[in-house]
Amino acid sequence: MNVVQTLRLHLLLASLFLLVLSQPLNAAPASRHAGDSQWEMFSNNPHFVLTIGVGRNNVNGAATGKYKWDETGHLIAATIMLGNRIDEGFPSAVYYPVMNALQPYEASRLINGNVLAATKIAHEFGHVMKIGTTDQAAYTLQLKLVPVYNKIFLSNGYNVQDPRLVDLAKQMGGNPVEIWEDREYWGEANAMLFLRDRVARERFHCKLFNRIKRTVEEYAKPYEERFAEIAKSQGAIYGCSWR
Ligand SMILES: [Zn+2]
Repeated sequence: MNVVQTLRLHLLLASLFLLVLSQPLNAAPASRHAGDSQWEMFSNNPHFVLTIGVGRNNVNGAATGKYKWDETGHLIAATIMLGNRIDEGFPSAVYYPVMNALQPYEASRLINGNVLAATKIAHEFGHVMKIGTTDQAAYTLQLKLVPVYNKIFLSNGYNVQDPRLVDLAKQMGGNPVEIWEDREYWGEANAMLFLRDRVARERFHCKLFNRIKRTVEEYAKPYEERFAEIAKSQGAIYGCSWR
């Protein structure tokens, strides 16, 4: 099989996989889910090409990039690379409060590796969704200035007060760590949106959401609002402690 055939196969597998996994564990068949809606939005949009590949780098993780825009500034393409064992491995609670919260439920077999894998795909979808609403010029500027920032940072004794760095951060809308964590937390918010529907009728739904809440409060306080909105949104059966 050549590369294109391999990618097509993986895309097919990933799509089947997501469609199956986005069904809630015990839901009425008519219910509508964020995972399905986003998948349909990507697959039915003739102006947007989402390529999904599976690779051996970063086997338990995934990455999204290769964004392309048309001349009017609309996002027209993105590529998601999934590790070939995304059904295993939990990233750190500090930057991944949603995916990490699944760990005890997997350990006690209340969820399986497929739910973990689908949550990771939802996280990547979150990156694509966010970039879709980000100004291309702002993104391109960040891409250009982050290496410049890092180079100065590594050579000035890690001084973030350096006026050159203050100026670069101002231009980019944050320092490289802030930009990166903001993106990751958007990915996590989308992962939470997927889980909201996926585990809505499970008896551990509230416990899981409470666990996410505690972790967000501990490590991601400035970003709490985006998670709280999902917890309280329509479709969430229990707001639990987010109320
Ligand atoms: Zn991410």
